[in-house]
Amino acid sequence: MTIDPFSDTYAEAREKFLDAANNAGAEMWSYTHPLKGPDGGILQTDCAWIGDRDATKVLVLVSGTHGVEGYCGSGAQVDWLRRREYALVGADTAVLLIHAINPYGFAWKRRVTNENVDMNRNFIDFSAPLPVNALYHELADALAPTDWSEESQTAGRAQILAFARKYSFEAMAQTVSGGQYTNPDGLFYGGSEPTWSRLTLESIFNEHLSQARIIGIVDYHTGLGPIGYAEPIITTPPGSRESERALQWHGLAAKVIGAGDSASAEIAGDWLCSAPHLLSHAQVTGISLEYGTVDSNQVLAALMADNWVHNYGDPLSPQGQEIKAAIFGAFFIDTDEWRGMVLGQSLMTVRQSINGLAQATNQR
Ligand SMILES: [Zn+2]
Repeated sequence: MTIDPFSDTYAEAREKFLDAANNAGAEMWSYTHPLKGPDGGILQTDCAWIGDRDATKVLVLVSGTHGVEGYCGSGAQVDWLRRREYALVGADTAVLLIHAINPYGFAWKRRVTNENVDMNRNFIDFSAPLPVNALYHELADALAPTDWSEESQTAGRAQILAFARKYSFEAMAQTVSGGQYTNPDGLFYGGSEPTWSRLTLESIFNEHLSQARIIGIVDYHTGLGPIGYAEPIITTPPGSRESERALQWHGLAAKVIGAGDSASAEIAGDWLCSAPHLLSHAQVTGISLEYGTVDSNQVLAALMADNWVHNYGDPLSPQGQEIKAAIFGAFFIDTDEWRGMVLGQSLMTVRQSINGLAQATNQR
């Protein structure tokens, strides 16, 4: 086992996580995904529980919501376990680590699930009218071309640029990444029903958090904002009790989506925003930790190429492997400096959650 907490493959990440959790004396269990990884290997969401099963306070750390972004979150989880940071939690508090909640996207180095769905656009009520992304159709062809040539890429870029000029850069970013429910082969697709990853997360909540009364959550993400900087993002509505509490726990650096100054577009259907409803018996305080990587154009180009290769190409071909290297590089920066920033800011954020849990009383 290498000292490096980060990994290049899902299998390596899983092994490091299981090893670190085992050394921490955690109780462990898994959920097996129906599909296999690019190496033919098994795909699982692994859970590790440290502390009393009946603890009324629980700290929850989640990696891999957006598949490929899990290489960052997994490294942070492994490092946190190896440093024995769990010794800092109170006697009334347990820790639940969820590794690779979207194991398909993690292993295949995709941001989406096997259903081509953005897990953070999937937590909506599918029996109600779906959210509308009114302008998405104007960009649908540009974002998800059926062929991936120099010509199609140049034309796509021009079309996206023209859209930004016609409306605004903010409108473009909102239309591209805000989520859409009309084009299953497109980007930031929210799906037509709950995904395997959503159902698995809901099972974990139902089966293992029903005793909890106060819950703190950290969900790891990458791909937005300045390189190496972790923006703590609050996804519950501005002014809500959950949002106000998250600001108290995580300080002034935290940004509330919808308050206008976050690196993220406004979205519907992210799981962290749904957590207070899914765990309505508890007081939930969640933070999404969003690490910057490369500029947004490069991220978008990597997502478009990845979307094409899974819909129309072969991810295992030489061209597919180039596209995989590009998307990995858009969501994980392979330098000591970036890795160090990830770990340091993660330690700080999780300690803030531990502190918040320690001080929290069950006043809702
Ligand atoms: Zn993400």
